[in-house]
Amino acid sequence: MTNSSSPRKIALVTGASRGIGLAVAKQLAHDGFDIWLNYHSNHEAAQKAKAAIETEGAAVTLLPFDVADINAVRASLNPLLEKNTPYALINNAGIRRDNLLVFMQDDDWTRVISTILGGFHNVTKTVLAAMIRNKGGRIINIASAAAHVPVPGQTNYSAAKAGIVGATRSLALEVAKRNVLVNAVSPGFIETEMLEGLPMDKILPLIPLRRLGRPQEVADLVSFLCSEKASYITGQAFQVNGGVAM
Ligand code: NAP
Repeated sequence: MTNSSSPRKIALVTGASRGIGLAVAKQLAHDGFDIWLNYHSNHEAAQKAKAAIETEGAAVTLLPFDVADINAVRASLNPLLEKNTPYALINNAGIRRDNLLVFMQDDDWTRVISTILGGFHNVTKTVLAAMIRNKGGRIINIASAAAHVPVPGQTNYSAAKAGIVGATRSLALEVAKRNVLVNAVSPGFIETEMLEGLPMDKILPLIPLRRLGRPQEVADLVSFLCSEKASYITGQAFQVNGGVAM
């Protein structure tokens, strides 16, 4: 994407120390981006991720903060934004705390909504003005199949992810004239630590391709959406799910 005479663009990827976010950050580094790598608290995983991404020739800036905490987001990003503006923002950080609503703890509702939906707001709002001023950029929001099909035990997660798809469309309309393109990517069951504890014997038969997805298979679509090849695509939600929701 870049050559030796043009500076590398920057991609800010939230929740990029593990799982899908790490695969996305590594792929975008391969594509020519330097990486602002956000994570929450697992410093050891973040250091390993940094080393892995640097093998792609990218400069990696580690940014530990809780995306749900607007003050922490601003304290971390504002000093960087004084000098640079990310071309791509990948809102990927997310958690799940599943339970039937009747048994769900209030904190499990609030924490999932504030991490996924609040995190989208806090990080996007912090970088958006600079992206608009640059008259170009890409925002990719990682949603979920749960945004598109009902999943019992995930009212909190489904609400947050469906909200992400709605916010993607509204924001895409708001910033299209400034050439900032906003899309969502909705993974199905992807092999990461987030799936730990789920009953795979029950889940696999539900997936038409009969296997879990790989983080790289999500990263490849994000890579495309951040590339020049995707210059006429905005306001869409794309599913990467082995056919589990159609
Ligand atoms: P994962 O393996 O559990 O990794 C989560 C990442 O997010 C870690 O880097 C973690 O950092 C970070 N994180 C968590 N809470 C955070 C917070 N409050 N602030 C900043 N960073 C935070 O998750 P994953 O499976 O890769 O999922 C990535 C995204 O894809 C999520 O939005 C998830 O909802 C979505 N998704 C996943 C699947 C799936 O099957 N895996 C399916 C559909 C959608 P620490 O290590 O420091 O905690």
